[in-house]
Amino acid sequence: MADVQAAKAAAASILQLRHVEGGYAQMQVLWDINFQVQEGTCVVLLGANGAGKSTTLATIMGLIELRGGEIDFLGEPLGTMRTDQRVARGISYMTEKAVFADMSVHDNLSLGAYSCGRRAANESIEAIYSAFPVLAQRRRAPAGSLSGGQRKLVGVAKALAASPKLIVMDEPSSGLSPLAVKEVVGALAKVRADRGASMLIAEQNIAFTEIADHVVVIEGGRVGFAGTVSELEADDALRKAFFGLEG
Ligand code: ATP
Repeated sequence: MADVQAAKAAAASILQLRHVEGGYAQMQVLWDINFQVQEGTCVVLLGANGAGKSTTLATIMGLIELRGGEIDFLGEPLGTMRTDQRVARGISYMTEKAVFADMSVHDNLSLGAYSCGRRAANESIEAIYSAFPVLAQRRRAPAGSLSGGQRKLVGVAKALAASPKLIVMDEPSSGLSPLAVKEVVGALAKVRADRGASMLIAEQNIAFTEIADHVVVIEGGRVGFAGTVSELEADDALRKAFFGLEG
């Protein structure tokens, strides 16, 4: 029975990191990182500045080399696969900047969908416009002329445009006001509800745990905690660190 459950859990895993080590030049940043993202779930990678969140994402995307351990995507080891091949396998990556400010909203979305055929790209972009009418209204406007929250929404939509199997996002809250953060969290909640999308979000803003199924806390390049949001809240030290709550 336990074997059957373990097999089911393994089958549902879209991304799995085992004993991952990574870093830059002489500096090792990641030490024995283990976690997984199951299909249709959202994992928030939480941690302070410099904890190693972006480095973890860059390693998953193949932007920096994997120095030890393994990363599997849909059961396939990514090894030394090029970034564009990872994208072609169905991983979409949203960086902190996320959009090209001088390009129109529509051109940003077309760029996001460039790997699809024209017809699939048009269908995908139309689906995005009907889910987020504000983007349809501003489709000809330069992305840089939109509000901070809307600009980030363009970034999310650009990442969605290729209909990825997994969306990896680096600090969607960066540079946003608390109100705009709420807007983005709401948009991601809608994406989850409409598409059942699998997501991995690196954040230091606790607001994103609202849409998380699991939270992985990175501390000094190591996994300090992995569990559900309720388990995070039940941990005294982590509750104080991230929620600023006593007792
Ligand atoms: P932040 O929210 O500040 O981006 P983070 O958790 O994403 O924090 P990382 O950007 O992964 O942290 O940084 C982890 C460590 O790696 C830090 O000590 C940082 O200075 C270092 N680092 C990050 N990028 C590089 C780079 N390109 N070259 C050398 N060191 C880097």
